[in-house]
Amino acid sequence: MGVRQSWKKGEPIMAEEDYKGVWVFVEQTDGEPATVSWELLSVGADLARKLDVELCTMVIGDNVEHLCQESFVYGASKVYLIDAPVFHDYRTEPYYRAVRYLIDKYKPEVVLLGSTSLGRDLTGPVATELNTGLTEGCTELDIDENRLLLQTRPAYSGNIMATIVNERARPQISTVRPRAMEVPEKDTSRTGEIVRESMDISEEDIGVKVLEVIDSSKGEAGAIDITAADIIVCAGRGIQSSENFQMIQELADELGGAVACSRAAVEDGLTPVESWVGQSGTTVRPRIYIACGVSGAIQHTAGMRDSDVIIAINYDKQAPIFEVATFGIEGDVLQVVPAITRYVRELRARK
Ligand SMILES: Cc1cc2nc3c(=O)[nH]c(=O)nc-3n(C[C@H](O)[C@H](O)[C@H](O)COP(=O)(O)OP(=O)(O)OC[C@H]3O[C@@H](n4cnc5c(N)ncnc54)[C@H](O)[C@@H]3O)c2cc1C
Repeated sequence: MGVRQSWKKGEPIMAEEDYKGVWVFVEQTDGEPATVSWELLSVGADLARKLDVELCTMVIGDNVEHLCQESFVYGASKVYLIDAPVFHDYRTEPYYRAVRYLIDKYKPEVVLLGSTSLGRDLTGPVATELNTGLTEGCTELDIDENRLLLQTRPAYSGNIMATIVNERARPQISTVRPRAMEVPEKDTSRTGEIVRESMDISEEDIGVKVLEVIDSSKGEAGAIDITAADIIVCAGRGIQSSENFQMIQELADELGGAVACSRAAVEDGLTPVESWVGQSGTTVRPRIYIACGVSGAIQHTAGMRDSDVIIAINYDKQAPIFEVATFGIEGDVLQVVPAITRYVRELRARK
């Protein structure tokens, strides 16, 4: 079991010194790592330097040893590896048992996971089993003068940024939003230590069986994971009606991108997508973000302003979105968007 301290404010944390190291959980599907795992290594390196401890990863899966070397290349110095067929497809039970086993045995001070569907599914049981705190969906992490992890995330529907501290239990567990941090520079000369572990768990011990894996990135509108998309076409209230959403989808399809929305577009029922980009929604950092009829309210730009290239289409040249845009098109979105789609189609046809 994890350590549950009987603690009163102001008292020192018992057994704190037993917990050392910053750990990142490497999320993977069929051996393909989720980019957020490497993003976590960039903030993890900063935390480890401030705490003067090792930066490690946990790699759990089936035939995933190659992710150890990738962990080193992105900055980890040690990897805790559990590699067995029972971990082939993600299921909550074997994974949380494996993570808990490693944490119980090696006692890291800080554990970071991506705030993805998998990361969010996994952290709840892990934190519960270990009797420790969990801060979900962080956008910033830091260390204070008492070695405590400062976990910052939007709160109260994005009205404030709250910094949360877990003073009384270890490890301190956070999930971090994809694209909130940058992937660190690769250094292919780096190596490190692999700690191989095994667990006494077999297929018969697990109640849930995976019958089929459906790739939601090839699904219908809105199913695409916008946090992983290189190109995003975002519909704002300026698209005016739900019928016009089709032209946003067509442009996204033509560019091989994903569709996203502003909160106002979702609240007005203009889109079939139920989540939005922004401070109280999802943070994205695509290569190209095309904002269609989006005014550029601060709550929206907070979630997309780090995109590499931002193209804004708006008929109001005073719209704040133009302040964050790399390229601005002043015009009617209902004419400009189909025109771009036609142009892209023509370019394709010429090839
Ligand atoms: C606590 C809190 C949290 C919030 N969190 C978020 C968040 O996470 N994400 C988010 O998006 N919002 C968020 N909001 C809402 C945010 O403040 C804005 O209201 C919202 O982003 C506006 O969306 P919009 O730009 O689509 O709509 P509007 O502000 O109504 O802008 C529509 C734009 O479209 C343009 N337009 C209209 N018709 C056309 C046309 N035919 N051609 C070209 N341009 C046209 C207009 O000039 C205008 O600039 C939050 C608000 C609060 C209070």
